[in-house]
Amino acid sequence: LLIDAHAHLDHYRDDELDSVLGEIERHEIFTISTSMNGDSFRRALEIGERSRWVLPIFGVHPWHAHECAGRLAELEEATQRSPMLGEIGLDHHFVKEASLYPAQREVLEFFLAAAHAQGKIVNLHTKGAEREILELLGRFEIERAIVHWYSGPLDIFHEMAARGCCFTVGLEVLGAAHIRTIASQVPEGQLLTETDNPGAWRWLEGERGMPGHIRAVVATLAELRGTTAAAIETTVQANFARLIRDDPWLSAVREELF
Ligand SMILES: [Zn+2]
Repeated sequence: LLIDAHAHLDHYRDDELDSVLGEIERHEIFTISTSMNGDSFRRALEIGERSRWVLPIFGVHPWHAHECAGRLAELEEATQRSPMLGEIGLDHHFVKEASLYPAQREVLEFFLAAAHAQGKIVNLHTKGAEREILELLGRFEIERAIVHWYSGPLDIFHEMAARGCCFTVGLEVLGAAHIRTIASQVPEGQLLTETDNPGAWRWLEGERGMPGHIRAVVATLAELRGTTAAAIETTVQANFARLIRDDPWLSAVREELF
């Protein structure tokens, strides 16, 4: 069992989904399909109907936050319905216009309040706003967070690790020195894996990413951490099982997987 704790299956075209879901099935990749907004979540739900390996979750990505700010009540129903919340967060790196940051923050605070009230795991984008995210996790008393593709400063990484965050290492670990440093330092019990595909591989290599790329992440982690791919697979599986152990929203997932 492999774990892809951050992917965007709704970003595949309809005619690609048979091969994508076939690959997930064949490699036994439990896949958390995060959303960018409401439309994205609706499509992810439809895809989730087609495979027991896919968990669709609702969030509003920071790149879309300005579309929802001031209309948070409209997010309520999907938020209630989703067993985990993401992709949510802040982005002060790719989003250069500081005028959009208050909207990002408003939407993120809405989701963190919901996660706290409902006892849900969050799946976080932290690019260029790592310090702010760390502070918000404390303020909203978020106990279970999956920090996706962390690439920020090492001191904040260690503070997030100390507060118990899990980290998804993804495809950039194949090449980037800073990501490899982080990947080698994630505490054993907090290590998860992701592809962030189909977009991540396209961004890194110019080709559409596929679910099976998770194997390259696992192999690279094994090399960096001086162990075997099988051991990484077992560790990540155990970490995910522990993360969702008492989660009432994910009892079906537990029964299916463990
Ligand atoms: Zn993503």
